Amino acid sequence: MKETLRIIVPCFNEEANIVDFYHEAMKNEGYFADNDVDIDICFVDDGSTDNTLAEIKKLIKKDKRVCFVSLSRNFGKEAAMYAGLELKDGEYTVFMDADLQDPPSLLPEMFEYIKQGYDTVATRRVGRKGEPMIRSFFARCFYKLMKKISKTEIVDGARDFRMMTLQVSDMIMEMPEYNRFSKGLYGWLGYKTKWLEFENVERRKGETKWSFWKLFSYSLDGITAFSTAPLRMASILGLLFCVIAFIFILIIIVRALVFGDPTAGWPSLVCIILLVSGVQLFCIGIIGEYLAKTYMEVKKRPIYVAKEIGYDHYSSSDF
Ligand code: UDP
Ligand code: MG
Repeated sequence: MKETLRIIVPCFNEEANIVDFYHEAMKNEGYFADNDVDIDICFVDDGSTDNTLAEIKKLIKKDKRVCFVSLSRNFGKEAAMYAGLELKDGEYTVFMDADLQDPPSLLPEMFEYIKQGYDTVATRRVGRKGEPMIRSFFARCFYKLMKKISKTEIVDGARDFRMMTLQVSDMIMEMPEYNRFSKGLYGWLGYKTKWLEFENVERRKGETKWSFWKLFSYSLDGITAFSTAPLRMASILGLLFCVIAFIFILIIIVRALVFGDPTAGWPSLVCIILLVSGVQLFCIGIIGEYLAKTYMEVKKRPIYVAKEIGYDHYSSSDF
């Protein structure tokens, strides 16, 4: 029986890239046909405000291997990838960006490794050509920090561009957490993984959808989802300050008994109060971050809301 490779493509305002992506991806059609594998391209329109959905619908009319799900608003790339998984079944899955920064020409090589028995083939880009220096700097710091504070392996430069077997994609769907950080989820899952490296490619058309702050908040998601080290740091800091305070109390009592009690010394007192209350607020903030994440999880809201789906030449909004 023929198997299927589903290519899941999250798209947020990518009208200029949809058709190019389709043609580039389908260049691999021959290779996969030789391996008895059909290709399905599953676009996820992540609440685009431009003509992305119209472009996808044009393709779906021409080729029934194209399918889509359109979300009711912008839910973010992680939610979009999850929506793609639920759209259609497939023995093999690969996630790819619409802007052709994940070269479709790598697909055959990735599939060869799957055939050799790897459960998942992941990619990491080497070099961050074309990226602002400050962004590369913070990205490097983030990965270094994660390595220190998390037991889960999160690889520097790892892309979401990853091919996997049905077992792995099913396990990803078994993890319906709200604060999603895929790179960590794969690390947590384990499985036999082959890493491929490729030189960074600049996006074909359009602009990046990730502002610095969006990335910063995503990295906080990564830290809170895969490490509780900041919480421990808060308690250790608290303990440390208790010890220091205790020593100071002893010193002050002894000094008062021996030398009497001069009233001078309020500047140092103010400094101590400021420092300690700062540290306290910082620690409460850390606890707040985790509390907020827990709060979002216990609500058990759906990860995304689908407004419209379409496959096999057919498009429907009534479900
Ligand atoms: N994307 C998405 N929802 C978002 C942001 C991005 O579906 O809220 C998609 C986007 O359309 C693209 C992919 O995720 O296909 C990667 O985004 P982008 O190229 O902007 O990120 P970068 O490559 O600059 O990290
Ligand atoms: Mg990109």
